[in-house]
Amino acid sequence: MAIDGNKIIHAVMEGSRIREAKGIIPLFGVYLSILSTIYYNRINFEFEKRMCDLGQEEKARALLVAAAQECGYATFQGIRNSWEWDEIVVPMLESREDQIHGFTAVAVAFGWGDLHVVELVPEEKLVIRVNDSYEARGYIREYGYSTAGKCYMLRGVTGAFMDLIYGGEYPDGCFSFLAEERRCRAKEDGYCEFIARKSPHKSIL
Ligand SMILES: [Zn+2]
Repeated sequence: MAIDGNKIIHAVMEGSRIREAKGIIPLFGVYLSILSTIYYNRINFEFEKRMCDLGQEEKARALLVAAAQECGYATFQGIRNSWEWDEIVVPMLESREDQIHGFTAVAVAFGWGDLHVVELVPEEKLVIRVNDSYEARGYIREYGYSTAGKCYMLRGVTGAFMDLIYGGEYPDGCFSFLAEERRCRAKEDGYCEFIARKSPHKSIL
């Protein structure tokens, strides 16, 4: 059976109706909350801008990707160890690689973008495309077009997906892969595209 993304999206939407008193959503073995993308984008891009003023632009970008990758690595480790994953996703898994399609469907359901897997070469390469990234959209709205990719969250998450499947035992696999964003809507490309490959240094910074 192939991965049915709609089934996963419906399960997340249904489950996300349950909120704790503080608005926390306990779902898929992790704690989620609703966060404004405008707020998230502003924190990231203003951090990048301030660091740029100090001549540390590359460091800022690496830190933002690293934060997203660590978050994605820990979050999806929790997700794939949850009872919801066992009940909804595991019956659809036919191969190790199908887990990546399952992760992608969960990320779509979380509102992280319209992620879809374009290419997956086991142990080597993952290409994820996103047509409407909130990071690119938010960047263009606030600052206009850029000369570089701006979707640090999705870049880190693409690397994290490969880390979880091919990076070895958790928690030592993070940054086994690193993703680049060669195409980004923030630099007037038609879509954003993230390519994760093995990292020779196992570090992003
Ligand atoms: Zn982008």
